[in-house]
Amino acid sequence: MKHLYHPTALDPAIPVPSWWRETKTDVPSYPALEGDIETEVAIIGGGYTGLSAAYHLARDHGIRAIVLERAYPGWGGSGRNGGFCCMGSSKMPWSKMIAKFGLEEAQSFWRSQKDSVELVAEIAERENLDIDKTGTGEISLAHKPSLVEGLKEEAAFMARTFGAAEKFMSKEDLMAQGMNSPGLYAGVANPVGFGLNPWKYVTGLASATEKAGARIFANAEVIHWAREGAKHVLTTQRGRVRADKVLIATAGYTGEDLHPDYAGRILPALSSIVVTRPLTEAERQEQGWTSTIPVYDIRYLLHYFRLLPDGRMMFGGRGGLSAEPGKLRAQQDNIEAAFRAYYPAWRQVEITHRWSGLLCLAQDLVPHVGAWDDHPGIYFAMCYHGNGVAMGTWSGRAAARVMMGSQDDQRPNFIRRVPPKFPLPFLRPLYLRGAYIGYGIKDGLN
Ligand SMILES: Cc1cc2nc3c(=O)[nH]c(=O)nc-3n(C[C@H](O)[C@H](O)[C@H](O)COP(=O)(O)OP(=O)(O)OC[C@H]3O[C@@H](n4cnc5c(N)ncnc54)[C@H](O)[C@@H]3O)c2cc1C
Repeated sequence: MKHLYHPTALDPAIPVPSWWRETKTDVPSYPALEGDIETEVAIIGGGYTGLSAAYHLARDHGIRAIVLERAYPGWGGSGRNGGFCCMGSSKMPWSKMIAKFGLEEAQSFWRSQKDSVELVAEIAERENLDIDKTGTGEISLAHKPSLVEGLKEEAAFMARTFGAAEKFMSKEDLMAQGMNSPGLYAGVANPVGFGLNPWKYVTGLASATEKAGARIFANAEVIHWAREGAKHVLTTQRGRVRADKVLIATAGYTGEDLHPDYAGRILPALSSIVVTRPLTEAERQEQGWTSTIPVYDIRYLLHYFRLLPDGRMMFGGRGGLSAEPGKLRAQQDNIEAAFRAYYPAWRQVEITHRWSGLLCLAQDLVPHVGAWDDHPGIYFAMCYHGNGVAMGTWSGRAAARVMMGSQDDQRPNFIRRVPPKFPLPFLRPLYLRGAYIGYGIKDGLN
């Protein structure tokens, strides 16, 4: 696979040392694809997006799609993320979105974000998935006193523009609700969202998808893609699928060589997580952090963190330009240092797990879900900007609807086109470096 990052980040033979894997080990294995198969729909990628598409195709449209996964379901971002099932998924500021696409479009996008969180909760309940749901809502936090006024204005703007029920919280409010840190000064609580165990969710979704009638193949990397008349022919190591329609659901793990015209359309970026041993009740009280609500600070290169059901603290952050093992370790050290700075009472607490993964950015900073006009029969769903637990699930369902020509299409117009190519795509690593330098400066100045 041709990719922008170091091969160790892409090698399914290297175990992913995430805490989540230890919470569920009785996971079914899926067969490799052997021989030739015909299908109406083939889906490339077995994360939330691909599985949700297959699940909804089977359940709502009676189509038994085939999911081709290079490693095993949940190997990508879906099995190793922070488990924030929350709104988000665009990096374009709301004011810019309104200016560029109009108020109605922005409102439609806001509603899709809210619906996406509800969709995950609905699926989990309907399929009886044990996903360790924790904390209601999501809180954004000011990490500098100078940012507090801006947060207040943001809450008022969201209420005025979208009817959002976001609520400003002073430092005292935060402390009263079990969120005490010397580095945090105020917050805005969004009632929409919750935490979940991403590995339990993705493996549960895979089981539900198979039960609904889809077929999932593991160790089935698409290594060649050809056209035979109107059919798409996807070749894996030991098999071939001939399909009328193909959904690309490969997110940050999309190979540059998957389809010649898809190269250069996405920018994978790293995110890393550290997890502590379970903190005792006394330790949590000493720090004054007892809330399980998912929270994040509002840095450009933000940190996201939450208390897990067994008392462990999970702390993650974006950044790092290389997935070469030494560099990844250094990036994880930075995340650990940020964690220790926020929680002085836990300075000595052991970190038991640390890992990293790739998320997916678009050049225009919004998600993309739709039919590819230039290539009949090809569909895409990706670019959630590090917020794909809810949005990947929603986009998979949206892609299923588009493939079936359903009238029930709730996508805002601006997410329907194929991700635009980056200008001079070979410069993407430089763009990311430039953005990180810029973000670092802005985070320092604010
Ligand atoms: C460390 C980290 C923390 C994150 N935290 C959060 C969070 O708290 N909340 C949130 O909402 N989002 C978070 N995200 C983002 C979230 O994980 C992703 O947006 C989401 O998982 C995307 O799902 P997906 O199904 O589109 O892609 P993925 O889950 O990445 O799956 C893509 C799959 O495609 C497969 N694939 C690639 N190429 C091929 C091929 N040629 N043939 C067959 N298969 C192929 C890969 O093996 C992979 O399994 C985080 C991401 C990371 C890395």
